[in-house]
Amino acid sequence: SLKGKTAIITGSNSGIGLGVAHEMAKAGADIVINSFSDTEDDHALAKSIADEHGVTCRYIQADMSKPDQCRALIEKAGACDILVNNAGIQHVAPIEEFPQEKWDAIIAINMSSAFHTTAAALPMMRKAGWGRVVNIASAHGLTASPYKVAYVAAKHGIVGMTKVTALETAKEPITCNAICPGYVKTPLVEAQIPDTAKKYNMTEEEAIEKVILERQPSREFATTEQIGGTAVFLCSDAAEQITGTTISVDGGWTAL
Ligand code: NAD
Repeated sequence: SLKGKTAIITGSNSGIGLGVAHEMAKAGADIVINSFSDTEDDHALAKSIADEHGVTCRYIQADMSKPDQCRALIEKAGACDILVNNAGIQHVAPIEEFPQEKWDAIIAINMSSAFHTTAAALPMMRKAGWGRVVNIASAHGLTASPYKVAYVAAKHGIVGMTKVTALETAKEPITCNAICPGYVKTPLVEAQIPDTAKKYNMTEEEAIEKVILERQPSREFATTEQIGGTAVFLCSDAAEQITGTTISVDGGWTAL
């Protein structure tokens, strides 16, 4: 059980982050959820997680594109036994047309934020004598697709950062690993369906099966619960000697 542990999940008012928050709460951890917004819905979401699982859950606003706010998220939480670096965005365009500001935003949110939160969290984990860093990378942290230059670069970067964090904490009761999901049906992926359908002149259903899940041999989306369950496993005693590695949850994508 993760009772008494505090888990901070970045970018967690939707999609995979929210799924991870639920699974961590189900395992007994106190939760901090986060995004850049600060709405009544965000705080109501935290309350609903707390009520459902009988743990504490706070919503802390912080923009993961801003280094100071990444570090402030960890400081404001006051404790960080489990850090799940999940915040991420996508943009799809050929290199020569890829907007510079999208490159900067993706590198900042999908990669650099994890450096800043990890730097702020490690001293707390050392003081507590236990810690788990789980980076949500991607199949695109291990392999590439065209038109996703910033995303693929950031995700490969986070896999590298995972290895360095593991080596720097190897002699301590702290581990760092990356989960590499294939396609998980979340708002991030749903947003890509209409564009893909248009580009290939297909219906959205055809685009899902023939284009999006074409890379995923199972031809099924992974679920946010499965990604959350994998993160909980990485926090279990069975995973104590698992560090500096990647776990693919991709229906066979990276076996191809
Ligand atoms: P999503 O759009 O549902 O969730 C992204 C989350 O990040 C949201 O909660 C959003 O509010 C938050 N976010 C965005 N910009 C932020 C910022 N500047 N500061 C703080 N929070 C911010 O997408 P998702 O699919 O759940 O993606 C979550 C992570 O999983 C991302 O890192 C993504 O790259 C990764 N991933 C997703 C898939 C997939 O198929 N969905 C596959 C592999 C990896």
